[in-house]
Amino acid sequence: MGPMASAKYIFVTGGVTSSLGKGIISASLGKLLQARGFRVTIQKFDPYINIDPGTLNPYEHGECYVTDDGAETDLDLGHYERFLNICTSQANNVTTGRIYNNVITKERKGEYLGKTVQVVPHITDEIKRNIFLLGESGEYDFIITEIGGCVGDIESLPFLEAVRQVRWDLGPNNALVVHLTLIPYLKAAKELKTKPTQHSVKQLLEAGIQPDVLACRTERPLPLELRKKLALFCNVHLNSVIEAIDADSIYDVPLLMKKEKLDERVLAKLKVSSRKDPDLDHWKEFLGRLKNPTEEVNIGLVGKYVSLPDSYKSINEAFVHAGAQNDCKVNVKWISSEEINPETCEDILAGLDGILVAPGFGERGMEGKIEAIRYVREQKIPFFGVCLGMQCAVIEFARNVLKLHGASSTELDPNTRHPVIDLMEEQKKVTEKGGTMRLGAYACRLKKGSKAYNIYGESIIHERHRHRYEFNNKYLNDIEEAGLKAVGVNPESGLVEVVELKDHPWFIGVQFHPELKSTVLNPHPLFVKFVEAAINYKKSKTVNG
Ligand code: GLN
Repeated sequence: MGPMASAKYIFVTGGVTSSLGKGIISASLGKLLQARGFRVTIQKFDPYINIDPGTLNPYEHGECYVTDDGAETDLDLGHYERFLNICTSQANNVTTGRIYNNVITKERKGEYLGKTVQVVPHITDEIKRNIFLLGESGEYDFIITEIGGCVGDIESLPFLEAVRQVRWDLGPNNALVVHLTLIPYLKAAKELKTKPTQHSVKQLLEAGIQPDVLACRTERPLPLELRKKLALFCNVHLNSVIEAIDADSIYDVPLLMKKEKLDERVLAKLKVSSRKDPDLDHWKEFLGRLKNPTEEVNIGLVGKYVSLPDSYKSINEAFVHAGAQNDCKVNVKWISSEEINPETCEDILAGLDGILVAPGFGERGMEGKIEAIRYVREQKIPFFGVCLGMQCAVIEFARNVLKLHGASSTELDPNTRHPVIDLMEEQKKVTEKGGTMRLGAYACRLKKGSKAYNIYGESIIHERHRHRYEFNNKYLNDIEEAGLKAVGVNPESGLVEVVELKDHPWFIGVQFHPELKSTVLNPHPLFVKFVEAAINYKKSKTVNG
């Protein structure tokens, strides 16, 4: 076992608390290395037992991010893709559950015949095999591995042991550890405190790992005295104590890390001579637009999981990218679909410049989504339906325009008379929940002349999926004749992927998740044009009103 190619390995661990932003620090370091011309990828190892986060409630773990190859992954992979403009895959996200599953499967096959299978070396060997997997292709100069959870957690131990071994195997020129920690500010004492960090480094040392770089999350600038103290107590070079100060936007972090020379420290420690200064022109241009908008719109995001912003992370970020592209500040207003009914609808939605109805599962809140869509269809407010949002648009249209009373999705009402949204044939046999949806990238052919075609500028597109239910093609003719057109269809299966309404300024529903492919470098065209439609709608209101 061991790395085949000459990739260098950077591990990012976290201490003191979770939610310090390891994903953003990893993505920012990756961005800086990439901007120097290096080939970089990032992977995340999660210590929980689920095989993947697909079966987790968004309230537990935030959004489930889906890759082209159909892996249901941690939302940090979304940050990696958005920052680096790369494609990740199943290999970029591994959980304890997957590691154990692999080891137990091998055990049953008899691959360890005669041996007692143990955490060390069998589980740790399997972790190491996965650490090296992406590096084997020779495609990358740097593999950044983010270790989820917090140092000191029971479940992190096998991962830390694997990291310890990798550093030992590869030596200090080929593997290093960045430890992200918190320096809390105590108001009463008017002081930043280093003790929690000292403790967390001690815990790392207990696991046999001396961090090479300390990245210190802080609300206030870290004074030199404090940096010296941290360096002394944590055995880290003074210039490797990096301040990671709170930022207005996650997209500021690469530049803040550059100012702190995080990339330079990493390159020096790994004995890599850099080809040039990071080329961040495009990134800076994006930030310039993000921070100096000339327009402003309010978009309603109608969903079920609105009290936890992480549940719709990629949609939020896609709006950030699309807003910058339009020089427009997009205020996303979170609206709980459970609050929307025929009485409240107008009060809640009037005044917004566009409505996105979000993806989701289960019947709770679905009627509110359908009601919201009736309102924006009739009021000609720009509408964007994503996955369940598209399905709700079809239901609303069938009920209120086609007058198919009781039309529904069989997810909402298994006995509906008009199942305009229904389970796919192959889904009817599925009984297990994990990893069994229609997942990953599928092709879609767009009809020439449609709005979607003009927005994408091409007829064959590939977008990512995560759903079980589908537009029921038995109703296709009737629905199209009444004005809701299926303008995007899967060329092999004939499944409807995109619907758009005639005689409406902007009404598009998509069965896939465009938000998953929006990056800083390539803002998603549907989001860009939806924001543009919202700007135009707002202007038309001022002219007419
Ligand atoms: N619940 C719907 C389905 O399974 C939509 C899923 C989603 O919005 N991601 O088809």
